[in-house]
Amino acid sequence: MIHEIDVREPGDRADNSRRETLQAAAEEVSDNVLPGDHRVEVMSLDATTGNAAVVSSHDASPGQGDHVARALRHVQRISPALGLTADQPPEYVADPVEQTTSAGAVAVHLRQQYKGILIYDAAETVRFEPDGSIREVAGSSVTAPPDLPVAPTVTPEQALRSAADHVAQPGDPADAPLDQFGQPMTDPGLDLTAFAPVQRTSGADRADRPTTFDAPPFTHVVTVSLVWFPLGDSLRLAWHTKLAVPGGAAFRIIVDAQDGRLLLVKRLTQAVAGRATVVLRPGAPAAAVDFPLAATTYGAPVPANLPAGFPYDWLTDTTTRGSSVQAVIEPGSTTVSGTSQNGKVTFQTDPATPDGLAVNLFALCSSMHDLLYLLGFREVDGNFQADNLGNGGRPADAVLAHVHPGAVWGTANMGSPPDGSQPTMNMGLVTSTNRHTALDADVVFHEYTHGLTNRLVGGALDDASLDAIQSAGMGEGWSDFFACTAMGKTVVGDWVVNQPGGIRRFRYDESFPDDYGDLGTGRYDEVHNIGELWCATLMSLSRVIGAWTAAQVVVDALKLTAANPSFLAARDGILLAADHYSQARGDDATTRADFVHSVWTVFAQRGMGPQARTGGAANLTGIVTDFAPPPRPTATATLHGAAAPALAIPDNQVAGVISRIELPESGPVESVSVTVDITHTYIGDLEVALTSPDGHSVALHSRAGSSGHDLHHTWTNADLPGLGTLTGGPSGGTWTLAVADRAARDTGRLDSWSLEIAVGEKRTGVEASATPALPIPDNKATGIRSEVTITETGVISALLLDVDITHTYIGDLEVKLVGPDGTRVKVHGRTGAGNDNLITTYTSESGVLASFVGKQVQGTWALTVADRAGQDVGKLNRWRLAATL
Ligand SMILES: [Zn+2]
Repeated sequence: MIHEIDVREPGDRADNSRRETLQAAAEEVSDNVLPGDHRVEVMSLDATTGNAAVVSSHDASPGQGDHVARALRHVQRISPALGLTADQPPEYVADPVEQTTSAGAVAVHLRQQYKGILIYDAAETVRFEPDGSIREVAGSSVTAPPDLPVAPTVTPEQALRSAADHVAQPGDPADAPLDQFGQPMTDPGLDLTAFAPVQRTSGADRADRPTTFDAPPFTHVVTVSLVWFPLGDSLRLAWHTKLAVPGGAAFRIIVDAQDGRLLLVKRLTQAVAGRATVVLRPGAPAAAVDFPLAATTYGAPVPANLPAGFPYDWLTDTTTRGSSVQAVIEPGSTTVSGTSQNGKVTFQTDPATPDGLAVNLFALCSSMHDLLYLLGFREVDGNFQADNLGNGGRPADAVLAHVHPGAVWGTANMGSPPDGSQPTMNMGLVTSTNRHTALDADVVFHEYTHGLTNRLVGGALDDASLDAIQSAGMGEGWSDFFACTAMGKTVVGDWVVNQPGGIRRFRYDESFPDDYGDLGTGRYDEVHNIGELWCATLMSLSRVIGAWTAAQVVVDALKLTAANPSFLAARDGILLAADHYSQARGDDATTRADFVHSVWTVFAQRGMGPQARTGGAANLTGIVTDFAPPPRPTATATLHGAAAPALAIPDNQVAGVISRIELPESGPVESVSVTVDITHTYIGDLEVALTSPDGHSVALHSRAGSSGHDLHHTWTNADLPGLGTLTGGPSGGTWTLAVADRAARDTGRLDSWSLEIAVGEKRTGVEASATPALPIPDNKATGIRSEVTITETGVISALLLDVDITHTYIGDLEVKLVGPDGTRVKVHGRTGAGNDNLITTYTSESGVLASFVGKQVQGTWALTVADRAGQDVGKLNRWRLAATL
């Protein structure tokens, strides 16, 4: 156990004569300094400093405006009553954020300084009534002796070494103090043998000289700065630092700046391991698990850049008031306590009881904190933690999660104010099933994700970033998406409402019927329903690029998305994040372009292609769909081959010499670059030609250059258009270079040559057709269905559908193509009125079949034809599918 130290003696300076002195000062400032009828009275004294603990105001006038400036002015005016001497300047710095209660009372927090350096543990809070008048000043200020010198003899580095030496000593286990259950409390040691503080920045321009050092062996960057430490009747100049050690503990350490003595060592966090019986999946049996869950539990990739000590301990003491969530039972906001044994806190609660619900909610919220941490929702991103462990962002915002035994508004809800303020989650009972949402991870994760999206979209300080209706709808959609992803499901809330389809209209699979064009129509005028469209799109993305890849890209995109996005703005964030993601994992340019294209196909399938438009995020008008993804990028793989035959070229002979290069088949030729190195004394004698594997020849050099020596040259499509005749041919096989000397006397040698061939994507075609010759029943919605099966596998890059239907009134007909995954596209929807016969071709290029691009070709395809009006009849003669992979 690392020893805590505090060299201050607990004194009692709050005697009667001191009280009389301060009260006399209060009367003096009331008579002569304070404006109007405003009077102050010393109500109580701080025993340690002997100064005023509370100074109340009477008859203060209701003020207007800047509370911070008024608080500073008031404390300066009454400084003699607070205990400051006449020659001690009242130096205070204000927290610029004033706190306001729901009733309109305001608190301003001030910290005391001396010569520009903070005094440890000296602070005042000025409280204002809702009418703006000053109510009281509470806290404690320190009396400073006149003119203390500000010259440390200990350097920041020496102070850091002293502090490090202390936390490196876990101490003798026999001396370890006992916790409240009588168990010894021990820390891991810290190996300092290789420790050499590396200074990053020096704060020599500031009075408190903040100096930073590289983190190792600590888990966070270390800052050392000057502070005054009140000791006896004086102030000691001291260095202040915080050290976070692997394992989760952190310490505040104050080192005397004159003699290097440790003045204060205080443990800031106490992380605790735990165990409880909880329900981590809705409807699963309760099971005992250890807190925290291992980072590998969630199925998400565990990134390499996690801070030491992650996952942090969920518990900070023996209760459900933990490091990232405070789970309490209503009414009364009571926490649940466990029992501590062998350094581990065990909750012996039954999930069916209110205590068990709180423990369950605690575990689910803590696990969601950890899962989202893996995906990049961390301290600097505005996540929810009581202590940010020096990792940036604003602390003191663990989720306040309330378990309500009965129903609550909305069954469950979550509100998240800006970073640094605690979000509130309320979880209630579903009365129809008597099942509690605190046992349903779907619902808890949905609610928790509201915190994620509110913090990330538009930044952690903007809590109005999802107000616009499209944005708010996506807020619901993101919440369902993360719940589905974490649970590996396509429905949410199915257990808690005891319905297999859950609480949404449709399952989030490929049968989800609607698209962006439906926004603002029918039921898509309400945020949860709007959210279904967004979640369905994200779930398609999951199936195309992988669930955790999609989750990562979506979290990344949330950080890139400006406040109050439309669907299309959020789509753009996802496309950008996908491009970054692909690049970061080392994809080559082709793979990266393909990856981004696959994301486009998902959005295009829901009508959010490149030409889609919206009137704005705040409304559901002006929406134009686009179902065609942008063209698929062509591949640019490059093949290389070289040969160094060193062949003498026979003089004046038409056959000449030939040299061959074999290349593997990699797809069609896009462009060719060929380089030859020929030594010769008269290149005007030479003819050089390249022949491709399928027998096309291109003349490279035809007796040009007259008496020039040596042919060292590279030909490309750009400077020799004849090479373009090879485009589209096979890259694989034998490439032949022929060199002939066609005139007598001068001779030479083919030393070497090389080929560089850019190869396009290898495309294969797949076809299937059927000749059902099926009569189409008149005026019957179910119609007929004809199927074909494709056994080849591959991803569709283009699709063509030929249809041959004879009919006497094609305006009666509805024709749909159904893919193997259930994707259903209407190719003909009762258009054409009284025209005869539907004999036509549909393609993915023209848009109507674009939904199938990017999907797997293998499986059973169906064409359905229905005649939806009486009288005219017809027959499905034949249909054919042709896919390019
Ligand atoms: Zn919601």
